[in-house]
Amino acid sequence: MNLSSSEIERLLTTSDPTLVDELKAEACRVRDEVYGRRVFMRGLIEISNHCKNNCLYCGIRRDVHCTRYRLSKEQILDCCRQGHELGFRTFVMQGGEDGWFTDDVVCDIVRTVKRDFPDCAVTLSLGERGRESFARLREAGADRYLLRHETADEAHYSYLHPAEMSFAHRMQCLRDLRDLGYQVGCGFMVGSPHQTLDTLQKDLAFISDFRPEMVGIGPFIPAAGTPFEHERAGSVELTIRLLAIIRILHPHVLLPATSSLGTMHPQGRERAIAAGANVVMPNLSPQDTRALYSIYNNKLATGSEAAESAADIRLRMAAIGMEVPTDRGDFAS
Ligand code: SAH
Repeated sequence: MNLSSSEIERLLTTSDPTLVDELKAEACRVRDEVYGRRVFMRGLIEISNHCKNNCLYCGIRRDVHCTRYRLSKEQILDCCRQGHELGFRTFVMQGGEDGWFTDDVVCDIVRTVKRDFPDCAVTLSLGERGRESFARLREAGADRYLLRHETADEAHYSYLHPAEMSFAHRMQCLRDLRDLGYQVGCGFMVGSPHQTLDTLQKDLAFISDFRPEMVGIGPFIPAAGTPFEHERAGSVELTIRLLAIIRILHPHVLLPATSSLGTMHPQGRERAIAAGANVVMPNLSPQDTRALYSIYNNKLATGSEAAESAADIRLRMAAIGMEVPTDRGDFAS
Protein backbone atom coordinates (compact mmCIF):
# COMPACT_ATOMS: atom_id res chain seq x y z
CA MET A 1 0.00 0.00 0.00
CA ASN A 2 1.09 3.57 -0.59
CA LEU A 3 1.32 6.13 2.15
CA SER A 4 1.95 9.74 1.18
CA SER A 5 4.85 11.55 2.79
CA SER A 6 2.44 13.73 4.73
CA GLU A 7 0.63 10.63 6.05
CA ILE A 8 3.99 9.16 7.04
CA GLU A 9 4.98 12.36 8.81
CA ARG A 10 1.69 12.40 10.71
CA LEU A 11 2.13 8.75 11.79
CA LEU A 12 5.68 9.36 12.96
CA THR A 13 4.89 12.51 14.93
CA THR A 14 1.32 12.11 16.24
CA SER A 15 0.61 12.01 19.95
CA ASP A 16 -2.80 10.45 19.33
CA PRO A 17 -2.62 6.91 20.78
CA THR A 18 -5.67 5.76 18.78
CA LEU A 19 -3.96 6.58 15.51
CA VAL A 20 -0.84 4.66 16.58
CA ASP A 21 -2.95 1.67 17.65
CA GLU A 22 -4.68 1.68 14.27
CA LEU A 23 -1.31 1.81 12.52
CA LYS A 24 -0.05 -1.23 14.43
CA ALA A 25 -3.27 -3.16 13.93
CA GLU A 26 -3.16 -2.53 10.19
CA ALA A 27 0.48 -3.65 10.05
CA CYS A 28 -0.39 -6.92 11.83
CA ARG A 29 -3.36 -7.51 9.56
CA VAL A 30 -1.14 -7.07 6.48
CA ARG A 31 1.56 -9.37 7.91
CA ASP A 32 -0.94 -12.07 8.92
CA GLU A 33 -2.44 -12.03 5.44
CA VAL A 34 0.96 -12.81 3.87
CA TYR A 35 2.72 -14.94 6.50
CA GLY A 36 0.02 -15.98 8.97
CA ARG A 37 0.63 -15.66 12.70
CA ARG A 38 4.16 -16.99 12.41
CA VAL A 39 7.51 -15.66 13.60
CA PHE A 40 10.67 -17.02 11.97
CA MET A 41 13.81 -17.67 14.00
CA ARG A 42 17.35 -17.13 12.71
CA GLY A 43 20.48 -18.10 14.61
CA LEU A 44 23.00 -15.26 14.63
CA ILE A 45 26.65 -16.32 14.62
CA GLU A 46 29.04 -13.41 15.11
CA ILE A 47 32.09 -14.75 13.34
CA SER A 48 34.60 -11.91 13.86
CA ASN A 49 34.90 -8.51 15.48
CA HIS A 50 37.99 -7.55 13.51
CA CYS A 51 37.12 -4.70 11.16
CA LYS A 52 39.04 -2.56 8.73
CA ASN A 53 36.30 0.07 8.70
CA ASN A 54 35.85 2.99 11.02
CA CYS A 55 32.09 3.67 11.00
CA LEU A 56 31.58 6.43 13.57
CA TYR A 57 28.71 4.69 15.41
CA CYS A 58 30.10 1.18 15.67
CA GLY A 59 31.61 -0.26 18.85
CA ILE A 60 33.94 -2.60 16.91
CA ARG A 61 35.24 0.08 14.51
CA ARG A 62 38.95 -0.10 13.69
CA ASP A 63 40.03 2.60 16.17
CA VAL A 64 38.26 1.16 19.22
CA HIS A 65 40.58 -0.64 21.62
CA CYS A 66 38.86 -3.90 22.39
CA THR A 67 39.70 -7.59 22.54
CA ARG A 68 39.46 -8.92 19.02
CA TYR A 69 38.46 -12.49 18.12
CA ARG A 70 37.48 -14.55 15.15
CA LEU A 71 35.79 -17.95 15.07
CA SER A 72 37.32 -20.95 13.38
CA LYS A 73 35.43 -23.03 10.87
CA GLU A 74 35.03 -25.73 13.54
CA GLN A 75 33.56 -23.24 16.01
CA ILE A 76 31.11 -21.99 13.41
CA LEU A 77 30.05 -25.55 12.55
CA ASP A 78 29.58 -26.28 16.27
CA CYS A 79 27.27 -23.29 16.53
CA CYS A 80 25.26 -24.59 13.56
CA ARG A 81 25.05 -28.07 15.09
CA GLN A 82 23.70 -26.68 18.35
CA GLY A 83 21.35 -24.36 16.49
CA HIS A 84 20.01 -27.14 14.31
CA GLU A 85 19.13 -29.17 17.40
CA LEU A 86 17.32 -26.17 18.85
CA GLY A 87 15.21 -25.90 15.70
CA PHE A 88 17.05 -23.19 13.77
CA ARG A 89 16.88 -23.54 9.97
CA THR A 90 18.64 -20.28 9.09
CA PHE A 91 22.16 -19.37 10.16
CA VAL A 92 23.25 -15.75 9.86
CA MET A 93 27.01 -15.28 9.84
CA GLN A 94 27.80 -11.70 10.68
CA GLY A 95 31.05 -9.92 11.28
CA GLY A 96 33.24 -6.91 10.80
CA GLU A 97 35.11 -6.51 7.52
CA ASP A 98 37.89 -8.90 8.42
CA GLY A 99 40.45 -9.61 5.70
CA TRP A 100 41.12 -13.04 7.21
CA PHE A 101 37.73 -14.14 5.84
CA THR A 102 38.80 -14.26 2.21
CA ASP A 103 36.48 -15.60 -0.46
CA ASP A 104 38.19 -18.99 -0.25
CA VAL A 105 37.71 -19.16 3.52
CA VAL A 106 34.06 -18.06 3.48
CA CYS A 107 33.18 -20.24 0.48
CA ASP A 108 34.60 -23.28 2.24
CA ILE A 109 32.55 -22.53 5.37
CA VAL A 110 29.36 -21.89 3.40
CA ARG A 111 29.79 -25.08 1.35
CA THR A 112 30.34 -27.15 4.48
CA VAL A 113 27.34 -25.68 6.30
CA LYS A 114 25.13 -26.27 3.26
CA ARG A 115 26.43 -29.84 2.93
CA ASP A 116 25.98 -30.70 6.61
CA PHE A 117 22.66 -28.88 7.01
CA PRO A 118 20.95 -29.15 3.63
CA ASP A 119 17.60 -28.07 5.06
CA CYS A 120 19.00 -24.73 6.21
CA ALA A 121 19.42 -21.30 4.65
CA VAL A 122 22.70 -19.44 5.01
CA THR A 123 22.66 -15.68 5.38
CA LEU A 124 25.86 -13.66 5.25
CA SER A 125 26.37 -10.20 6.74
CA LEU A 126 30.04 -9.45 6.24
CA GLY A 127 29.88 -5.90 4.97
CA GLU A 128 30.86 -4.57 1.57
CA ARG A 129 32.69 -6.81 -0.88
CA GLY A 130 33.22 -6.75 -4.64
CA ARG A 131 30.69 -8.16 -7.09
CA GLU A 132 33.00 -11.07 -7.95
CA SER A 133 33.24 -11.93 -4.28
CA PHE A 134 29.47 -11.83 -3.81
CA ALA A 135 29.16 -14.03 -6.91
CA ARG A 136 31.54 -16.63 -5.51
CA LEU A 137 29.80 -16.74 -2.14
CA ARG A 138 26.48 -17.16 -3.89
CA GLU A 139 27.85 -20.04 -5.99
CA ALA A 140 29.12 -21.65 -2.79
CA GLY A 141 25.52 -21.71 -1.59
CA ALA A 142 24.82 -18.51 0.36
CA ASP A 143 21.10 -17.77 0.07
CA ARG A 144 20.77 -14.33 1.61
CA TYR A 145 22.84 -11.25 2.42
CA LEU A 146 22.19 -8.54 4.97
CA LEU A 147 23.78 -5.17 4.31
CA ARG A 148 22.02 -2.28 5.95
CA HIS A 149 22.12 0.80 3.74
CA GLU A 150 22.36 2.76 7.08
CA THR A 151 20.73 5.87 5.58
CA ALA A 152 19.36 6.71 2.14
CA ASP A 153 20.58 10.30 2.37
CA GLU A 154 24.05 10.78 0.95
CA ALA A 155 25.02 13.73 3.19
CA HIS A 156 23.79 11.86 6.26
CA TYR A 157 25.76 8.80 5.12
CA SER A 158 28.97 10.81 5.04
CA TYR A 159 28.26 12.13 8.51
CA LEU A 160 28.08 8.55 9.85
CA HIS A 161 31.07 7.16 7.96
CA PRO A 162 34.69 8.09 7.35
CA ALA A 163 35.65 9.69 4.05
CA GLU A 164 37.02 6.46 2.58
CA MET A 165 33.56 4.85 2.66
CA SER A 166 30.96 5.84 0.10
CA PHE A 167 27.21 5.84 -0.16
CA ALA A 168 27.51 5.02 -3.86
CA HIS A 169 29.50 1.85 -3.15
CA ARG A 170 27.11 0.66 -0.45
CA MET A 171 24.17 1.08 -2.84
CA GLN A 172 26.14 -0.63 -5.62
CA CYS A 173 26.69 -3.62 -3.32
CA LEU A 174 22.95 -3.87 -2.68
CA ARG A 175 22.19 -3.82 -6.40
CA ASP A 176 24.90 -6.43 -7.09
CA LEU A 177 23.51 -8.72 -4.40
CA ARG A 178 20.05 -8.40 -5.89
CA ASP A 179 21.34 -9.13 -9.44
CA LEU A 180 23.18 -12.21 -8.20
CA GLY A 181 19.98 -13.75 -6.88
CA TYR A 182 20.41 -13.28 -3.15
CA GLN A 183 17.47 -12.54 -0.88
CA VAL A 184 18.69 -9.12 0.19
CA GLY A 185 18.30 -7.24 3.46
CA CYS A 186 18.86 -3.51 3.88
CA GLY A 187 18.06 -1.34 6.88
CA PHE A 188 19.05 1.52 9.11
CA MET A 189 19.43 2.65 12.70
CA VAL A 190 16.65 4.74 14.20
CA GLY A 191 17.87 7.92 15.88
CA SER A 192 21.41 7.91 14.54
CA PRO A 193 23.07 11.33 14.95
CA HIS A 194 21.78 13.89 12.42
CA GLN A 195 18.87 11.70 11.33
CA THR A 196 15.80 13.82 10.56
CA LEU A 197 12.23 13.21 9.42
CA ASP A 198 13.49 14.03 5.96
CA THR A 199 16.23 11.37 6.00
CA LEU A 200 13.70 8.84 7.36
CA GLN A 201 11.34 9.69 4.48
CA LYS A 202 14.22 8.89 2.13
CA ASP A 203 14.83 5.56 3.89
CA LEU A 204 11.17 4.63 3.46
CA ALA A 205 11.15 5.75 -0.18
CA PHE A 206 14.27 3.68 -0.82
CA ILE A 207 12.65 0.60 0.75
CA SER A 208 9.46 1.09 -1.29
CA ASP A 209 11.50 1.36 -4.45
CA PHE A 210 14.18 -1.33 -3.86
CA ARG A 211 11.72 -3.79 -2.32
CA PRO A 212 14.30 -5.83 -0.38
CA GLU A 213 13.34 -9.25 0.96
CA MET A 214 14.37 -8.18 4.47
CA VAL A 215 14.66 -4.91 6.39
CA GLY A 216 16.54 -4.62 9.68
CA ILE A 217 15.94 -1.55 11.81
CA GLY A 218 16.69 -0.89 15.46
CA PRO A 219 17.42 2.08 17.68
CA PHE A 220 20.90 3.58 17.57
CA ILE A 221 22.63 2.91 20.91
CA PRO A 222 25.85 4.80 21.73
CA ALA A 223 28.95 2.62 21.86
CA ALA A 224 31.88 3.27 24.22
CA GLY A 225 35.07 4.49 22.63
CA THR A 226 33.39 5.78 19.46
CA PRO A 227 32.97 9.40 18.33
CA PHE A 228 29.24 9.04 19.08
CA GLU A 229 29.60 7.62 22.58
CA HIS A 230 27.90 10.63 24.20
CA GLU A 231 25.08 10.94 21.68
CA ARG A 232 21.50 10.11 22.64
CA ALA A 233 20.05 6.69 21.91
CA GLY A 234 17.26 6.33 19.36
CA SER A 235 13.62 6.01 20.38
CA VAL A 236 11.88 2.67 20.88
CA GLU A 237 8.50 4.22 20.09
CA LEU A 238 9.73 5.69 16.80
CA THR A 239 11.26 2.33 15.86
CA ILE A 240 7.93 0.59 16.51
CA ARG A 241 6.05 3.05 14.30
CA LEU A 242 8.64 2.71 11.54
CA LEU A 243 8.33 -1.09 11.66
CA ALA A 244 4.58 -0.80 11.20
CA ILE A 245 4.94 1.68 8.32
CA ILE A 246 7.52 -0.54 6.57
CA ARG A 247 5.17 -3.54 6.87
CA ILE A 248 2.32 -1.55 5.32
CA LEU A 249 4.48 -0.14 2.49
CA HIS A 250 5.99 -3.56 1.70
CA PRO A 251 3.66 -6.33 2.95
CA HIS A 252 5.91 -9.29 2.01
CA VAL A 253 9.04 -8.05 3.76
CA LEU A 254 10.73 -10.19 6.43
CA LEU A 255 11.05 -7.82 9.35
CA PRO A 256 13.08 -8.68 12.44
CA ALA A 257 12.47 -7.52 15.98
CA THR A 258 16.15 -6.62 16.42
CA SER A 259 18.41 -7.11 19.44
CA SER A 260 18.94 -3.36 19.87
CA LEU A 261 15.19 -3.03 20.42
CA GLY A 262 15.32 -5.90 22.93
CA THR A 263 18.27 -4.19 24.62
CA MET A 264 16.42 -0.87 24.99
CA HIS A 265 13.12 -2.31 26.23
CA PRO A 266 12.34 -5.59 28.06
CA GLN A 267 9.23 -6.06 25.94
CA GLY A 268 10.92 -4.68 22.82
CA ARG A 269 10.56 -7.87 20.87
CA GLU A 270 6.88 -8.37 21.70
CA ARG A 271 6.17 -4.73 20.89
CA ALA A 272 7.85 -5.13 17.50
CA ILE A 273 5.83 -8.25 16.70
CA ALA A 274 2.69 -6.35 17.70
CA ALA A 275 3.68 -3.74 15.10
CA GLY A 276 4.11 -6.16 12.19
CA ALA A 277 7.59 -7.69 12.68
CA ASN A 278 7.90 -11.43 12.01
CA VAL A 279 11.52 -12.50 12.57
CA VAL A 280 13.68 -12.94 15.68
CA MET A 281 17.44 -13.49 15.57
CA PRO A 282 18.74 -14.82 18.87
CA ASN A 283 22.44 -15.17 19.44
CA LEU A 284 24.04 -18.53 18.57
CA SER A 285 27.67 -17.39 18.97
CA PRO A 286 29.90 -19.24 21.45
CA GLN A 287 29.19 -18.02 25.00
CA ASP A 288 32.69 -16.65 25.53
CA THR A 289 32.74 -14.39 22.47
CA ARG A 290 29.27 -12.86 22.80
CA ALA A 291 30.36 -9.98 25.00
CA LEU A 292 33.16 -9.13 22.57
CA TYR A 293 30.87 -8.42 19.62
CA SER A 294 29.99 -5.15 21.30
CA ILE A 295 28.70 -3.06 18.41
CA TYR A 296 26.86 -0.97 21.05
CA ASN A 297 26.75 -0.72 24.86
CA ASN A 298 25.03 -3.39 27.00
CA LYS A 299 24.11 -5.48 23.96
CA LEU A 300 21.90 -8.33 25.11
CA ALA A 301 22.96 -11.88 24.33
CA THR A 302 21.25 -13.63 27.20
CA GLY A 303 17.64 -14.43 28.10
CA SER A 304 15.47 -14.34 25.02
CA GLU A 305 18.34 -12.94 22.97
CA ALA A 306 20.19 -16.24 23.46
CA ALA A 307 19.65 -19.17 21.14
CA GLU A 308 19.68 -21.62 24.08
CA SER A 309 16.41 -19.98 25.06
CA ALA A 310 14.64 -21.12 21.91
CA ALA A 311 12.04 -22.81 24.11
CA ASP A 312 11.52 -19.58 26.06
CA ILE A 313 11.18 -17.65 22.82
CA ARG A 314 8.51 -20.06 21.61
CA LEU A 315 6.63 -19.55 24.90
CA ARG A 316 6.88 -15.78 24.75
CA MET A 317 5.67 -15.80 21.17
CA ALA A 318 2.85 -18.22 21.99
CA ALA A 319 1.77 -15.81 24.74
CA ILE A 320 1.13 -13.16 22.06
CA GLY A 321 -0.57 -15.63 19.74
CA MET A 322 2.37 -16.31 17.43
CA GLU A 323 3.74 -19.67 16.38
CA VAL A 324 7.48 -20.27 15.74
CA PRO A 325 7.85 -22.89 13.00
CA THR A 326 11.00 -24.98 12.48
CA ASP A 327 11.35 -23.57 9.02
CA ARG A 328 13.82 -21.62 6.85
CA GLY A 329 11.33 -18.79 6.71
CA ASP A 330 11.96 -17.74 3.13
CA PHE A 331 10.56 -14.59 1.54
CA ALA A 332 6.98 -15.18 0.37
CA SER A 333 6.99 -14.02 -3.25
N1 SAH B 1 30.08 -5.26 9.08
C1 SAH B 1 28.73 -5.65 8.73
C2 SAH B 1 27.86 -5.89 9.95
C3 SAH B 1 27.68 -4.66 10.81
S1 SAH B 1 26.85 -4.90 12.35
C4 SAH B 1 28.15 -4.61 7.82
O1 SAH B 1 28.78 -3.59 7.56
O2 SAH B 1 27.06 -4.82 7.31
C5 SAH B 1 25.18 -4.84 11.85
C6 SAH B 1 24.46 -3.53 12.02
O3 SAH B 1 24.47 -3.09 13.37
C7 SAH B 1 25.03 -2.35 11.27
O4 SAH B 1 24.68 -2.41 9.92
C8 SAH B 1 24.42 -1.16 12.00
O5 SAH B 1 23.23 -0.70 11.37
C9 SAH B 1 24.11 -1.73 13.38
N2 SAH B 1 24.87 -1.00 14.41
C10 SAH B 1 26.20 -0.73 14.43
N3 SAH B 1 26.50 0.05 15.47
C11 SAH B 1 25.34 0.29 16.13
C12 SAH B 1 24.99 1.08 17.27
N4 SAH B 1 25.91 1.77 17.92
N5 SAH B 1 23.69 1.09 17.65
C13 SAH B 1 22.76 0.38 16.99
N6 SAH B 1 23.03 -0.33 15.88
C14 SAH B 1 24.30 -0.38 15.46
